[in-house]
Amino acid sequence: MKYALVTGGSRGIGRAICIELARSGFPVIINYKTNQEAAEETLSAVESLGVCGELLRFDVRNKDEVESALDGWESSHPDDYVSVLVNNAGIRRDNVLFMMSDEEWSEVLSTSLDSFFYITRRILKHMMPRKRGGHIINIASLSGVKGMQGQTNYSAAKAGLIGATKALALEVAPRGVTVNAVAPGFIATDMTKDLPVDELKGLIPLGRFGTAEEVASLVSFLASEKANYITGEVININGGLYT
Ligand code: NDP
Repeated sequence: MKYALVTGGSRGIGRAICIELARSGFPVIINYKTNQEAAEETLSAVESLGVCGELLRFDVRNKDEVESALDGWESSHPDDYVSVLVNNAGIRRDNVLFMMSDEEWSEVLSTSLDSFFYITRRILKHMMPRKRGGHIINIASLSGVKGMQGQTNYSAAKAGLIGATKALALEVAPRGVTVNAVAPGFIATDMTKDLPVDELKGLIPLGRFGTAEEVASLVSFLASEKANYITGEVININGGLYT
């Protein structure tokens, strides 16, 4: 069977992506870091669609955890492989650069970039043989496209992810693997719940934050055969905030 792996699938955009991919018929591997209860809620939502799901806990920043979790999954699924990878896990640690701590810098970069490297390198081993193909979707951000004050770490991480998307797309195209990035603007999730919503809404041409489900619909399209000729793209989904 062809599986989808979604990092950070326990909450927010990742949860909505798990559900939308399940609705398209993909069995889903739901990764999370600490929030077991939320991950189980995602799993129940996937299973309620009559699709199988599995929880796979690992810290995306930790190479050994990534390797051992994926080793375990592979040995219990000798006939299956991951054909859709969504690198979604991400964190914010906002601060102005001159006050930013080493941890605020490195945690944000490693959550977006080290994770991309460790997980994608590993999963490509499933996709490349015999031109099996596959779809890799990286969740970037408006912050990585235009830059946002107070988020130099996060903008650097997401811009790095966009560069990696474009380079890898060229590298793996001959094997029928597509690699795209989705760059959301403000989406209503735990990550944005501390922001001044009313003030920010005024800046958004469509006048509201987006929903996780709206981002998930786009990801699900990019994971489908309908998007087989799209690769190396960064698709903005931001209510017209920046184009
Ligand atoms: P949330 O904070 O709601 O959820 C974050 C998810 O990532 C959780 O499932 C969390 O797991 C997981 N996670 C965080 N760190 C790790 C880690 N080290 N290892 C494994 N899993 C981890 O975030 P959103 O849903 O809002 O964001 C999802 C993605 O979208 C992120 O990459 C974010 O940068 C990006 N994005 C979000 C925007 C927004 O406005 N919300 C805008 C633009 C981009 P756990 O539950 O176990 O903690």
